[in-house]
Amino acid sequence: MRIDRIELREIHLKLKQPFVTSMGTQQARRILLLRVSQADRDGWGECTAGEDPFYSYETVETAAQVLERFLIPSVLGIELSGAEALAERVAAVRGHPMARAALECACWELEARQREQPLWRLLGGVRPVIRSGVSIGIQPAPERLLERIETELEAGYQRIKIKIKPGWDLDIVDRVRQRFPELALMVDANSAYTPAHAEHLARLDAYRLMMIEQPLGHDDLIEHARLQRGLRTPICLDESIRNAGDAAAALELGSCRIINIKLGRVGGFREARAVETLCRGRGVPVWCGGMLEAGIGRLHNVALSTLEGFRLPGDVADSRRYYDRELIDPPVIVRPDGTIAAPELPGLGHRILLPEIDSVTAWKRSYFPSPSGPAGPARRGVGGEGVKPR
Ligand code: MG
Repeated sequence: MRIDRIELREIHLKLKQPFVTSMGTQQARRILLLRVSQADRDGWGECTAGEDPFYSYETVETAAQVLERFLIPSVLGIELSGAEALAERVAAVRGHPMARAALECACWELEARQREQPLWRLLGGVRPVIRSGVSIGIQPAPERLLERIETELEAGYQRIKIKIKPGWDLDIVDRVRQRFPELALMVDANSAYTPAHAEHLARLDAYRLMMIEQPLGHDDLIEHARLQRGLRTPICLDESIRNAGDAAAALELGSCRIINIKLGRVGGFREARAVETLCRGRGVPVWCGGMLEAGIGRLHNVALSTLEGFRLPGDVADSRRYYDRELIDPPVIVRPDGTIAAPELPGLGHRILLPEIDSVTAWKRSYFPSPSGPAGPARRGVGGEGVKPR
């Protein structure tokens, strides 16, 4: 693999419905897309960094800067044995996992296309069909939440995750459980609680939840371990697990019994596989979390979810629920039985709709190997700037 061109762009998409969590309300997304090319083959990646440093410290701006200044120059024009070697190379940048993942995931897709095999098979996936769940944000009223759950169950989803925060938790879970006694239900707090809420959270044990996701601090393992000792319901960690080392520490301490893996949060497929392998070896189930991805990021999540350890339904839902524009063809479709078929065509296995992507592009830049040699800085192409935002 020798990447001879990289294109970085920012797209703007509107959500069909606002998404509300304990961290705030999301109505639209600014998303970085990356296209890496060798000769006539492309690989696409999507960066999950948000507009604000609330889920993690990364933002669209930090990711774009780290990609442009450090990551892209470190791989352009360099002979690499493949995406695994590239992942090792970009790991020289500390932190900034979402920026690294965007580049790494694009290179995995490029390698899969070069080998003419589906990405999920190149990664060692074993599930041609994945199980799909859905995450429902905080709603204006409990009745509205019950209606949303009804709709999602009719669409076939195999499990429902609801977002909770102090003031929108026990009563809400009680109402959901009364209405849907057999529902595979879990809750996600996005770090909205403190150790002082331990007794309050223990009352959730009455509702047979599959798990409570990330109740306490994003960087805490000790208090989660203390909380887990007092809970029957498994804790699942999301924000706290940044790599396989965090996962090992969390399992050793007993901070959780389930792990949510997100490609952006852990820095790409190489680290995601390391977390999956570790958890599988210890009999700990994992599942794939979501970051309101558009089509390309969603397809990377489908590929990840085919790995053996992904035993629980993830947050990889139908792409048509989210945005006013579809950037891939066909869309990611959840079938009536709540499953998604992994594509059999090479790479991501879906057509990338370039005219649609261009129509929502705010800016784009192209980079080429430096004429002074592969180790030099990337040369920024001309003519790519200033695509009109919608
Ligand atoms: Mg979460």
